[in-house]
Amino acid sequence: MLDVINNFIWLKIKKRNNVDIYLYLVSYTLLFSILAARVSLLALFYVWGYTLFVILNASALIIYLIFYFLLTKEKYELVNVLITLDVIVYTLLVIYLIGGLSSFAVMYIILLLNLQPLIPYKNTFIQRSLILAIVTAFIIVLITHFLRTPVYAVSLEHLRVYAIFNIYLTVVYLLMEIIFQNILRSFLLNYQLQKLEELDFQAHTDFLTGLFNRRYADSIFSSIRMKEQNNYVVALLDIDNFKKINDTFGHTCGDEVLKFLSVFLSHNVRKSDVLFRWGGEEFLVLLKEVDLDTAYVLLERMRKKLANAYIPTKQGLLRITVTIGMAILNSSLPFQSIDDSDKKLYEGKQRGKNMVMK
Ligand code: GH3
Ligand code: MG
Ligand code: MG
Repeated sequence: MLDVINNFIWLKIKKRNNVDIYLYLVSYTLLFSILAARVSLLALFYVWGYTLFVILNASALIIYLIFYFLLTKEKYELVNVLITLDVIVYTLLVIYLIGGLSSFAVMYIILLLNLQPLIPYKNTFIQRSLILAIVTAFIIVLITHFLRTPVYAVSLEHLRVYAIFNIYLTVVYLLMEIIFQNILRSFLLNYQLQKLEELDFQAHTDFLTGLFNRRYADSIFSSIRMKEQNNYVVALLDIDNFKKINDTFGHTCGDEVLKFLSVFLSHNVRKSDVLFRWGGEEFLVLLKEVDLDTAYVLLERMRKKLANAYIPTKQGLLRITVTIGMAILNSSLPFQSIDDSDKKLYEGKQRGKNMVMK
């Protein structure tokens, strides 16, 4: 049975983010739990024959039906405010009618106050106003309890049962609030972790191509340094005459070519190799565990394949070539090695482009 409920809830909330999921859970649980309390009270007062209380609780059923409708329209915040106000009004009414402290109805207000920090209101002003309203209601209850006598006569025996019922409600709601406190904590923790991961990811990836950016190279190279491995090759790749593509077909088309190239590169280097977008139309490939000659063969094969590829863009099919300069990675001076590969790249450009230089 619990599994069925769980599956149902997860089905409903799968598409939302953590905070929304939590808001969804809190809102529906709040609505149904208060509705359940009202139905029980309705039955109790009906059996005892207190018409006024029957009317009060029966009208609550209609109000909560409207709240339910609002929840299905995702008006979580509004419904939580309305429920809070409803409980305040109901409590004040009950206490006005049958007296405050003896019925334990005052516990509704205390529970409500306890609940407020668990509801993730987007607007803290609303939350503070509600807390102020609840505290004010509480003070009114205390003052009026000592200043005036109840206006509605309820037999002592019924009052006692009502008080026991309210104590029971208090225990159930407190347990519920504790459970939600724990859920909230884990949701917030997850949410923060997720955000941190996203930020970390954004910080070291290039927005256009999704490849690692230059900033991330530092940490990669220092991890290589720690392993003291020396069988790496760095290759710097630059698109030939890229300015012409931008000038002829526009910058957006140039971006499409860059995206194509990054996908092409990812498919045409080995899984263990690492790709960076080094600058505008420049890419860095870090080839692991190869010697210069093997890396040359791999890169040369890739260069030829790219030169024969047609790149689909909105402006039609385009072709590009690249020039690649490579060098063995000296793991204690990685940026020196990249400079070396840059020199080789420059040499390739001077010799007529569309080639790999070692
Ligand atoms: P070469 O063969 O000597 O490399 O010539 P080139 O035209 O490729 O080189 P140049 O350095 O003259 O021009 C590079 C161009 O790349 C200029 C710049 O506008 C373009 N570019 C840099 N980053 C981006 C980008 O993110 N998107 C687009 N569309 N173009 C970019
Ligand atoms: Mg360039
Ligand atoms: Mg270029």
